[in-house]
Amino acid sequence: MRLLITGGAGFIGSHFVRRILSADDVEQVTVLDALTYAGHLANLGEAFLSPKLAFVRGNVCDADLVDALVRDHTAVVHFAAESHVDRSFTTAGTFLATNVQGTQTIADAAMRHSIDRFVHVSTDEVYGPLLEGAATEDYPLRPTVPYAASKAASDLVALSYWHTYGAPVCVTRSSNNYGPCQHPEKIIPLFVTRLLRGEPVTLHDRGQHVRNWLHVEDNCAGIELVLRQGAPGEVYNIGGGTDMSSRDLTDELLRICGADWDQVTYIPDRLSNDLRYAMDWTKLAALGYRPTRDFAAGLVETANWYRDNPDRWAPLSRSSADTRPRVTSDTAREPQHA
Ligand code: NAD
Repeated sequence: MRLLITGGAGFIGSHFVRRILSADDVEQVTVLDALTYAGHLANLGEAFLSPKLAFVRGNVCDADLVDALVRDHTAVVHFAAESHVDRSFTTAGTFLATNVQGTQTIADAAMRHSIDRFVHVSTDEVYGPLLEGAATEDYPLRPTVPYAASKAASDLVALSYWHTYGAPVCVTRSSNNYGPCQHPEKIIPLFVTRLLRGEPVTLHDRGQHVRNWLHVEDNCAGIELVLRQGAPGEVYNIGGGTDMSSRDLTDELLRICGADWDQVTYIPDRLSNDLRYAMDWTKLAALGYRPTRDFAAGLVETANWYRDNPDRWAPLSRSSADTRPRVTSDTAREPQHA
């Protein structure tokens, strides 16, 4: 297999690159990444020691570049996206360009070069909020924020290349990932890095929003399964993490970091914040998918990674403090990605 991986310098993509490089049937892994604020070569680290790995800095919307790269590969796993929800409140156009046009550009090249598999990586947020129950793959798409809307659109674009041209597209939709190497704007690294520095953290509303927390390695295992065994034209939910409200998550993180509730302040909710996501992942389980990571242990391991690698996040924390989007409204709202 000769794999093109877009967004491989980001959080999930870099874990996937490290995982797939060890597979004997993988001859070549090429990462295409624009290295935006979310992408870092350091995330790939020791992966660069592998003679199988090549890195190309470029934009997934660059049709000529994408065409030349896809031509040389037998499969594509497409992680590249604008993924930070709060930023989509102020820069929705960038989200639509990268997430929708970028996906169409890849799908177009995948169709033209008759590659064996195109895995498009998406999110449970496309289903919108579920107050009860769990979304199966045929649940209606009801995204509520620009990020989720751009991902829902990109899912439909990718699948249209299966329906129209028979391109072998699979879509994965996972719940919230956590683990080492995540950008410190996201809630778990944001809280851990602030608590480790003795700084306060802020909780939206009363912290009642519920997310399913999936270890990044479990998501990558699910994506690899879909790459190898998924049926073309199908969508696969990747869940099975731990359901937890932001308040309970904060409680865990305070305990792990040796802090207490005095360091927490409540702020008004962000412009839009779905109360609960939940997915049914029976379909992928039928292919053998089983999440293996214990949430409590995974959180400790994640917090320890941030404790042990300040050089990886401290510069990003400073720069993101400078560039965080400001939402104009009569109430101060602080970015916080869950
Ligand atoms: P990330 O923001 O950490 O990484 C995105 C990567 O894409 C970065 O390396 C960035 O440089 C690159 N990129 C951005 N725009 C690009 C462009 N125009 N051309 C080329 N590269 C570009 O994201 P992540 O958390 O690793 O998420 C990866 C994928 O998984 C995304 O598609 C996201 O929607 C999806 N997803 C993420 C989560 C999560 O919890 N993080 C959950 C479900 C689905």
